[in-house]
This record gives sequence, structure tokens and C-alpha cells, in this order.
Amino acid sequence: MKFISTRGEASAVGFVDACLAGLAPDGGLYVPEEWPSIAPATTEESYVDVATRVIAAFADGELSLEVIRGICARAYERFSHQSVAPLVQTGPNAFMMELHHGPTLAFKDVAMQMIAQLFDHVLAERGERMSVTCATSGDTGGAAAAAFSGAGHVDLFILHPFERISPVQRLFMTTTGAPNVHNLALTDDFDACQAIVKALFADRDYVRQTSLSGVNSINWARIAAQSVYYATAQAALGSDRPLRFVVPSGNMGDALAGYVAARCGMLSGFEGVCAVNENDTLNVLFEQGRMRREQAVATPSPAMDISVPSNFERIAFEVSGRDASLIRQVYNQFAQTGDVDLPSQIKGPLRCSGLSSQSISNDTTMTEMATVLGETGWLICPHTAVGTAVARSLPPSESTTVVLSTAHAAKFPETVEQATGRDAPFPDRVKALAGRTEVFEKMAADPGAVREYILTHQRT
Ligand SMILES: *Cc1c(COP(=O)(O)O)cnc(C)c1O
Repeated sequence: MKFISTRGEASAVGFVDACLAGLAPDGGLYVPEEWPSIAPATTEESYVDVATRVIAAFADGELSLEVIRGICARAYERFSHQSVAPLVQTGPNAFMMELHHGPTLAFKDVAMQMIAQLFDHVLAERGERMSVTCATSGDTGGAAAAAFSGAGHVDLFILHPFERISPVQRLFMTTTGAPNVHNLALTDDFDACQAIVKALFADRDYVRQTSLSGVNSINWARIAAQSVYYATAQAALGSDRPLRFVVPSGNMGDALAGYVAARCGMLSGFEGVCAVNENDTLNVLFEQGRMRREQAVATPSPAMDISVPSNFERIAFEVSGRDASLIRQVYNQFAQTGDVDLPSQIKGPLRCSGLSSQSISNDTTMTEMATVLGETGWLICPHTAVGTAVARSLPPSESTTVVLSTAHAAKFPETVEQATGRDAPFPDRVKALAGRTEVFEKMAADPGAVREYILTHQRT
């Protein structure tokens, strides 16, 4: 199967190359040339069984089934729950899908563990090495550190804003003890970290010289890996039961994965409600058909403090009837003006995509955490609370509602304490972290210094 760019000016590549590259060279995002048909999951299959089938459908012969099974088995063996993404009931016809049983207590582990195994396998086969870099405002960096620690063929460089991420989030990144995981704490904000990563990738010679790649939320491997739990949820709740997924969203990778699962035939219909915080650009996109760049504001759900949801480009491409030149036009205009009124070829069909969005205020997020505690006795994380608050506001439906729980409460103890008055203790499996030595390099947010650091610290 070939993967094409949403902007239509890059050559088609295979699955492995699309995943290793991340972004397409024309600035677009890779999508499968045509949607594979994938049989729905069954209750007889394990999570690894389903993941193997899904990845195999996209890899389409590039990797053997045994290799894919090995990658998936290793990716999910470190999860504390054998179901990987178990469902728990929260009310009548309402469930929560717990995606926080991975090593760093957030749903990013589900995709990152798989990417790390995939990258290390194909690089070993090719006799190559790669340097992977990512800017993080919290969860991605930790998930990447846990996933790539000890990978023989990858050196990981994580850029985080010094003293602007939570102490728990930092612990997950800085305590792996792995010599191939490098943490750079830049004395500036997240946008500065991201700008430096962008600048590194803009220099094609440097990218070639350092064999640089990224694992941000537009990487196709992440989308493919995340589509698996939508399929297992459908199987667990009954193959004919219509489901309404409520997805706490930022870059929209998670919600897109639900759309992909549906497009490939793994769901019985599709309704996906993106739950966003006060950074409501997604809302404006779905409701007004307007794409506007705004300054992200700080909220109790920081992993969703995103001003431009990057995966929206794939949805726009699909609903436009895969009109790459239209997408190119829209995104060029957006780059120039930061404000685009979507053309009717996108706006109209967007309403029939099954996707929608709702925004929740900071105050509601905080009271929601206390409400859920009262109803169920559970502490939930602030991102999940944005989801449950949206679910509460939806009109009654025949569909069963499934809210995706994207992180464990213990990852955001300060917010949980403030909202509920309760401690959110670490689960036993990560308690040891707190005593470990943190290793990170504090430096100025200077692109030149970061370039040099990567050059001198990557293994050759
Ligand atoms: C990343 C993240 C999200 C947002 O996911 P997207 O795929 O970017 O929409 C939500 N909740 C948590 C806890 C996250 O780490």
C-alpha cells in the first residue's frame, strides 16, 4: 500500500517510509492511497491480535506477520492491564475506556510503544540509525522516553520548556537512565521548543546528516496504533451496538484514529465528539468552518492546550474528496494569514463526517472532577474530565457513550487535589520513579546550541 501526501506534491511512499518520515516533504500529512478493508475485532481476539491485523493491513506485505506480531507483543507487554484499553461502566449506557495503563500513565504510550518497536526493528534490518527529536509540553516526551529507552538504533532528543511542565511529567522523561535518551530543558516556553524542532527539520542537509526524524502526533504509525482500541471497544460492547465516542482532543490524532477505524470498516457507524478545553479552535472549525490561529491559553488540561489541531488536515483532505490542490491552497493561506474561511467543498461535507466538537470551561472541568468522584468514587485526570463533561452535555441518544480516559489522575496531582481535595497517589508500578535521579541538560533556547548538541551526542 502506498501513502500519499494531503498536499499532493510528494511522491507516494510505503508504510515504513511514511512512518519513518513523519511529515511528507511537501509539508503535507501522509494518508493511505486507499482505505484498506479491515474486519471488525472479535471478542476471541486479544489486543495484540487486533493490533497485528490493523498494522498488517497498512504495512501490506512490507513486514511479515510474525514481525508485526513481535512488534505489537513487545509494545504492549509493559501495560499493567492485559486488555490494554479496558472499558469500565460509568452509568446507564455509558462507559469509559481507560487508556492510561501504559508505562507513563497516558494514552500516548499506546502509540509510542508501538512506534519505538517499529522504528528499532526496521532500522536494525536496514543497518541504519536515526535521531528522533520531539518538543513536548508534557506527556509526549515521557511516553517517547519510556518507549525508546534502550532502543539500539535510535537516539532520542526531547526538548521541554524548563520549569514549565509538571514535576511528575518531568520525572517520566528524566529518570529512564538510558544513555540514548537525551533531555534538553530549554529556558523558554513550549512554542520556542517547537520552533527549534521546526528549524532543525527545515534544514534538509542537517536532516540528512543527522538522520533526523520525529514522532509527533501526525505520524501515521500513531494514528494506526490508536485505531486499534476503537475496534476492541466495539467488539467488547457488541458488534452491532452504535457507539458515540467522546475524545478529549488537542492535535486531534486520537479522534482521527476513530474516524480511520470507521473508514476501514471496524466500527458499526461512527460518531466522534472532540472534547476541547478553552482552547476551542476545533470548535470554531466544526461550527463556523473557520480555521484561525490563536495564542494557546493555559488550562487545567495542559496536554490539550493546542491552538492549531494538526491532524485536522487529514479530515479536510478526506471530506473534500481528496482534493490535494484545495488543501494546499487552504494551508498556504493559513500559513500567511492565520485565518481561513474553509471553502464550501470542505465545510459542507465536514458536517457529515461523524465528527463534531464541544468546548468546556476551566471552571466546569474542575467541578466535573468532583462530580465524577461523587458518582463513581474515582479520581479522574483533568483531560478525561473535559470528556466526561462533554458527555454529560450531549443530547440523549440510542448510542452507547464511550469517553476516552486519556491519562491517570496521578499524573496531575496538583489539579486533582485542587478540584477534589484528594491525593492522587502513583500506582505501585511507577512509585519507584520518585526516588530516581533526574538527568537533563539545561540550556538556552538557541537553535545553534541544540543543533550542536544533537550532532555531538548522537551515536554514529
Ligand atoms: C495528548 C493528549 C490529549 C490530546 O490528544 P490528541 O491526539 O492530541 O487530540 C488528551 N489527553 C491527554 C492526557 C494527552 O496527553
